[in-house]
Amino acid sequence: MPATLLDGLALSKKLREQLKIRVDRLRENGITPRLEAIVAAQDPASLAYVRMKRKWAETAGMESGSWEATAETSQAELLDKIAELNANPAVHGVLLQHPLPKHLDEDAALTALGAVKDVDGITSDSLGRLTAGLPGFRCATPLGITKILDEFGLDVAGKRAVVIGRSNILGKPMALMLLERNATVTIAHSKTQDLPTLCREADVLVAAVGRPELVRGDWIKSGAVVIDAGYNKVEGRPKDVGDVHFEEALEVAGWLTPVPGGVGPMTVASLLDNCVQAAEMQLGLNAV
Ligand code: NAP
Repeated sequence: MPATLLDGLALSKKLREQLKIRVDRLRENGITPRLEAIVAAQDPASLAYVRMKRKWAETAGMESGSWEATAETSQAELLDKIAELNANPAVHGVLLQHPLPKHLDEDAALTALGAVKDVDGITSDSLGRLTAGLPGFRCATPLGITKILDEFGLDVAGKRAVVIGRSNILGKPMALMLLERNATVTIAHSKTQDLPTLCREADVLVAAVGRPELVRGDWIKSGAVVIDAGYNKVEGRPKDVGDVHFEEALEVAGWLTPVPGGVGPMTVASLLDNCVQAAEMQLGLNAV
């Protein structure tokens, strides 16, 4: 039997409708959740992502803005902008869209942002809070994945999970969030030996690699939950391609996220959820 598809797009629509209700309530109390993005002016992909995030925010009744860093922007100007956004009570969430222009120090910018308005959950403060099991905004992409698991009743407690990838924005926080849910987690990376055998042991397999169709059907345990976080452009292919070979995985996995329409939309929904939560906290409604 083919795998059941984990439709992240449909779930994100449902979550965004719920967000709109929460935003309406905030607005009745005089608060409009506001998301601000800092983005590289010369990066068309980043600009497109930010446009989409802002559009979804505004559809949910939120406000949004963006500030473009150019080749002329200095580190001091970037840090001033972050300080200004941090100090502005009308701004609830700040998104630093990676990558910023190369001459800018992104790590210093993330440190300056801190945890309070880091609705993408990617600063070292936020990641430290996750590691220590303290409340804070969780990283948007793995958070979106946990929402998919919850929606489909996929309990990972006691299960063997393998996460391929150890980036700070995806692999590492994903592994920690699965651990929080009592999975037994292994993190694989480019130096891992015999990755196919390791993957075959996984009840839950998360691919967060950035290598088109790396994970083949015969790497997957029958009936496993397979989450494909990859998003790769491949020349000659009309649609973006995941890190998992979709057609092969469909025949073996029990559950599978499609690309597109799986993890991607849930990342944006989770970012907005965090931002609305930040505004709710301002009103004393909802602590993270
Ligand atoms: P990244 O920072 O480049 O990290 C990739 C990770 O994969 C690294 O840890 C790397 O290992 C590992 N890796 C690379 N080649 C490997 C191989 N052959 N075998 C095993 N491990 C390998 O990428 P990222 O930012 O985490 O993103 C990963 C993917 O997710 C990309 O396709 C990206 O587009 C996608 N993504 C999607 C969303 C979404 O919302 N859907 C959000 C963010 C990212 P080393 O550490 O050893 O180098």
